[in-house]
Amino acid sequence: MEPGDDFVAARRVLQAARSLVALTGAGISAESGIPTFRDAQTGLWSQFDAMALASEPGFRARPERAWDWYAERRAGVQRTEPNAAHRALAAFEQRHPGRLRIVTQNVDDLHQRAGSRDVLRLHGDILRVRWLDPCPLQPACDTDAAAAGRPPRCARCGNLLRPDVVWFGEVLPAAALAAAEAAVARCDALLVVGTSGSVWPAAGLAGLARRAGAQVLIVNRAASEIDSEATQILRGAAAALLPALLAPI
Ligand code: NAD
Repeated sequence: MEPGDDFVAARRVLQAARSLVALTGAGISAESGIPTFRDAQTGLWSQFDAMALASEPGFRARPERAWDWYAERRAGVQRTEPNAAHRALAAFEQRHPGRLRIVTQNVDDLHQRAGSRDVLRLHGDILRVRWLDPCPLQPACDTDAAAAGRPPRCARCGNLLRPDVVWFGEVLPAAALAAAEAAVARCDALLVVGTSGSVWPAAGLAGLARRAGAQVLIVNRAASEIDSEATQILRGAAAALLPALLAPI
């Protein structure tokens, strides 16, 4: 089957971009076996209220339950491997150093394990932990030294550990968000992959790119809330489309 005109046009835009930003969401990791947020609401995790667990009040209300939920998600991430979409982005960066920056909403490490170096993480890292409250003994207190427990506690001050992710109601890491906005504002093309566009401020990056005059290409299996910002939409699975879109001409 010959690739359609849309596909050829998208490929041209990406290959011509001197500055390309890829904004990725849970959908890029779906084919590695990590449930998307929507899956989490309807699938296995629907026995929990994900919104309540992924928030500070939820964690404080039932720390053991939230810790166990995150431990299960963390183990799930560690069981997976990057897929062809992660690898296609990493290969593009290696072929064109300095031309591609990834801005990810994902808390997994699949971009990094695929070999991508220039990755801005907007929502943290599920494989890391930090103190729930500012630890009064820092920097003398090291999270590695936390006593066992669910969640582990600081052996000295009793503070709890929490996952190093951005919960609902929390602000994004300022430096990563500022760097992402700066990159998007000056890119030639924004490739938006596997995001529903429902989580802000990340979702606003598509409009920012569009207003700055960039091409905005969306790759998604289904409609998203930011489709109106797209100059072009490709419907399909990231692991099938990205290798073909980003392969050398
Ligand atoms: P989302 O779950 O809201 O949306 C996922 C999107 O991916 C949907 O639009 C869906 O149509 C699309 N999709 C699913 N499979 C796809 C595929 N194979 N190819 C292309 N598109 C596909 O995810 P979101 O927009 O990233 O926002 C959810 C929030 O939940 C984010 O803050 C994120 O940090 C977090 N989250 C992260 C992970 C992860 O790190 N892997 C997993 C679940 C949730």
